[in-house]
Amino acid sequence: MKYLDEYRAPEAITASLDRIRRKCSRRWVVMDVCGGQTHSLLKHGLEPALEESLELLHGPGCPVCVTPAAVLDAATSLSLERRVTLSSFGDMLRVPGRSGSLLQARARGGDVRTVYSPLDAVDWAVRHPEREVVFLAVGFETTAPATALAILQAQRSAVRNFSVLAHHVRVEPAMRQIAADPAGRVQGFLAAGHVCTVTGYEEYHAFARETGLPVVVTGFEPLDLLQGLETCVELLESGRSEVVNAYARCARPEGNPHAKRLLDAVFRVADVPWRGLGVIPSGGLKIHSSLAKLDACERFGLTASDVEETSGECRSGEVLTGRLKPPDCPLFGNGCTPDTPRGAPMVSSEGACAAYFRYALSGGRAHV
Ligand code: SF4
Repeated sequence: MKYLDEYRAPEAITASLDRIRRKCSRRWVVMDVCGGQTHSLLKHGLEPALEESLELLHGPGCPVCVTPAAVLDAATSLSLERRVTLSSFGDMLRVPGRSGSLLQARARGGDVRTVYSPLDAVDWAVRHPEREVVFLAVGFETTAPATALAILQAQRSAVRNFSVLAHHVRVEPAMRQIAADPAGRVQGFLAAGHVCTVTGYEEYHAFARETGLPVVVTGFEPLDLLQGLETCVELLESGRSEVVNAYARCARPEGNPHAKRLLDAVFRVADVPWRGLGVIPSGGLKIHSSLAKLDACERFGLTASDVEETSGECRSGEVLTGRLKPPDCPLFGNGCTPDTPRGAPMVSSEGACAAYFRYALSGGRAHV
């Protein structure tokens, strides 16, 4: 298939793997930030193929995984209110909060619906004026513009029965938190190419300068990832803490100005809690007070205590910061599986635990 096959060409992958192995004078520790990259590295067998040359850690870039349980609890409780329809993307429905998942709430009578776009939720609100339609919006700067668009659309069309329970997060502050961890071992980052497509990557120059860690903007197909890893190895071997774009077919330094304008129009940068990581300064986006009527927190009186972080037997915080590999969690495959998830990283299509369960357990062979 055009635009896919050329990034999965077996000969090119084999040659790239060889080059990376040759270039490594030691076993470097590199973190891929995005869950999509994690899945691709494992699905295509790249991580085991490079095991002796690189230690790959997997970062917090799984939006479902970093949404605090208390946000899910707020969504669950809203879904059980009379007149409320709670809508979100499919992955979110299976993630366990403290009072069960949204799917379980639906089984208890909650009106919970899957949508494929925030605009579908606005449309549902227009067609069901007797309902209060709430869209549970999570994700990084990649999904936030679509949420912003839905909010502006609802405002323009004077849709009065639509609101958003938003927990959008920002990647760069989370990378800073990981880089500042005194026990951290990350020596270089693969930044999430799709996030940079929206935000650009100019802010990473200050990050690389201040942390001393190189950053390579990287895509998701096998050859994208190998190009990112090879570039990162070159930077590490030559001691350069610089930013390099290895995803130039999509990401530009300035990002997507239209998407950024949408974000600015609807959101402000705020300190927000991440599941397993605590409150990250400037780590998220909150809806501007001028749009309070479209903010479910304001509309339904949800307070700060409604979104406190929780802890439990799931060790997702350690997994999301690269301190623990999923197979080293005592519950991995031993009570926690995709069918019986004990934590979000085992649920989400971008979760590291699900990636290891799906691919690493079956050998993680390179699909070359
Ligand atoms: S294996 Fe399950 S319990 Fe352990 S960290 Fe992953 S999701 Fe949490």
